[in-house]
This record gives sequence, structure tokens and C-alpha cells, in this order.
Amino acid sequence: MHRVYLDNNATTPVLSEVFEAMRPCFGEQFGNASSIHHHGQESRAAVENARESVAKLLGCRASEVVFTSGGTEGDNLALAGLINAGDHVIISSIEHHAVLHAAKRGEETGRNLTVLPVDGHGLVDPADVQHALQPNTKLISIMMANNETGVLQPVEEIGKIAAEANVHFHTDAVQAAGKVPIDVKRIGFTAISISGHKMHAPQGVGALYVKKGTRLQPLFYGGRHERSRRAGTENVPGIVALGKASELALRGFESGDHKKIAAMRDRLEQGILAQIDEAGVNGTGAPRVPNTTNIHFDHIEGECLVIALDLKGLAVSTGAACSSGAIEPSHVLLAMGMKPDRARASIRFSLGKQTTEEDIDFALSIVLDTVARLRAISPRYTKQ
Ligand code: PLP
Repeated sequence: MHRVYLDNNATTPVLSEVFEAMRPCFGEQFGNASSIHHHGQESRAAVENARESVAKLLGCRASEVVFTSGGTEGDNLALAGLINAGDHVIISSIEHHAVLHAAKRGEETGRNLTVLPVDGHGLVDPADVQHALQPNTKLISIMMANNETGVLQPVEEIGKIAAEANVHFHTDAVQAAGKVPIDVKRIGFTAISISGHKMHAPQGVGALYVKKGTRLQPLFYGGRHERSRRAGTENVPGIVALGKASELALRGFESGDHKKIAAMRDRLEQGILAQIDEAGVNGTGAPRVPNTTNIHFDHIEGECLVIALDLKGLAVSTGAACSSGAIEPSHVLLAMGMKPDRARASIRFSLGKQTTEEDIDFALSIVLDTVARLRAISPRYTKQ
């Protein structure tokens, strides 16, 4: 069966160059990066090389990169490690659950929490951030790009507010890294989480940028790995892969890869909107990452559409991968003021570096046909 994968915000396929870079780690280059003998030193060199590549992607120093097991760990490390009991934290209502639930857990253990709303485009208003500041505010954590809509938050303005108030600024850049350039110094972040498997490296590796001189309480206690910021033997193959994926992402910005992806995303979006009535893009009008579109198809259950498309070979999603299968509509779309029915009728298409024009043709034909078929049997739909 011909299959097309447009669920790259859930996870991306490992690129062949990334796989080749990590392959030696499963053979002759197997050492523990903390060992002092030849094998260990070889792995150490590979880890430090990867750290340089991640630092280049983020525009920071290599010593400011802490390798983690992924985005969830990076978010938890930032949310727990940058603050103490009694501190106040500001987040937004559209954060990934890795931030939302970590912040809620912080609230249970004595932190104060403000959860900011977003507007109909899915944007946080920097003025709300300013107004939410309290004398004990220690941390603002606002994501760079939303995983469901792709909407890019005004992190530059929020960064200025954080700097003026002398408050830490963490951003979950899991869905932004490799899709839009990130320049740590210009924006003045304290911490940034990224995840390998959203940028064509494997699952189970990520990194947290932590600004030089920042006190970070670790999540784990053990050896002095990662300058005592993250105990545990380094995942050398994953780290090497993340380094290579970072290099490829940077190269992609130079060669205009993201422009090609944006053009394909726009063609998919316009093709759908031109031919399907009562459909619309969620988050339209706001700046978005190039690879994502979230579209509502009124009178259809998003979960049914995802299953029907999958049966025809097209993989898409109703939003956050972890919430697929759950009955509740997306918290992100609800926070944008969308009615639950419309939120439930929404699906996300997310492209990757491997996506081709033929994939878009295939997706268009399958979506048009499937939506028409599902609406024909929907008691809620009457053709206009
Ligand atoms: N943050 C965002 C915005 C995400 O989209 C995800 C994954 O979907 C995560 C965090 C969690 O990352 P990981 O799967 O690497 O733990």
C-alpha cells in the first residue's frame, strides 16, 4: 500500500545521514563517554562534537548545552530546576503537557502559577505577560511554536519583558528547532528545550540550553555527567544523531529547505480550502512554522477522519500525539476560543524534510474524497 506520512510533529523519520552518523556507535565506537581509555575518549569526542553542532543551531556556547532524554525532560528540568518553593511562574494555556503538567506539579509543591490566555489566533499577548509579573516571579515559560497549530509566539517581545524584570525565560522550542532559526543571544533566553525526534534524529534524545551562570537544580542525582546538570550515562548514539540533525537543520536554512516545505504546506492548505466547504485553518493570520497546518472540517469527527485517511495510506493526527484516542477536544484549540465541536473536527497535517510534491498530491486527493464520503453519511451535514 502506498503510504504518505504527514505527522512529523508527532515524530520524524531518522534521515539517512543522521543514521550513518550514529551507526559506528552500535559497532566499534561503543565506549562510555566517561571512561578514560581509548574507547571512552572516542565517545567523549563524539559527544563534544555533537554539543558544538547543537550550540551552533541555537547560537549559544557548547558548555551551555545539556543533553537530555527529550523535550519532556528538558521542560521538566527547566520548570523544576530554575525555581524554588514560593516563586511565581508564568506559562500559557497552550503549552504542551510537558510544561503544563510540570507547572501544575510545581503548584502542588509550593510554587505560584499564572496561566495566560491566548487570542483567537493562538497568540499570547506580551502585555498579559507584563501584567502577570509579581514581585516573586522567577520564571516565564512560553513555547516558541505550538505543536498543534504551528503558531509562533512573540518570544522576542516576551524576552524583553523578562530581561527588564530580571526573570528567567524558558521556551519549549521542541516544534521550532530546525524549522525556524533560533538565536539565543538576540532573544535572551535562560533556557530552551529541544527534542531529537522532532528534527529527524531518533526518539529518546534532546537538549536543554541553559544560560551560562544560571543556577539549575538537577532532576536526577548520580554521577557528575553534563557538568552535574543531568546525571546518567550519556546516550552517545542519540547525542551524535542530534548533533548531525542540528548540522542538517542549519544547512537546510541556508539551502532554503524550509521555504520549499512552506510552499508545499501552503499548496495543501489552499487545495483543501478551495475544494472543501466549511473547512478552515486554525491559527490562520498568525506567524507559523513552515511545516504545520491545522484544519477544521465541520460536521466530521477528527478521530474518524484520521482513521479513514489512515486506511487509505495517509498518516495525520488530531493534534498532540499523546492525546490521540482521548475523547476530549484539544486544550490548545479550546484555549483559542473554538467551540468543542469544531475543535473535535480539526486535524493536523505536518510535513517533514522527506515530504515531496507527490505526497501533497496524494494527500489532497485522499482528503477531498474522504471528507466528501464522511460528510455524505454524517447526519449533521447538509450540503450548502
Ligand atoms: N514540547 C512540545 C511542543 C512537543 O510537541 C513535544 C512532543 O510532542 C514535547 C514537548 C515532548 O517532547 P518529547 O517527545 O521529546 O518528550
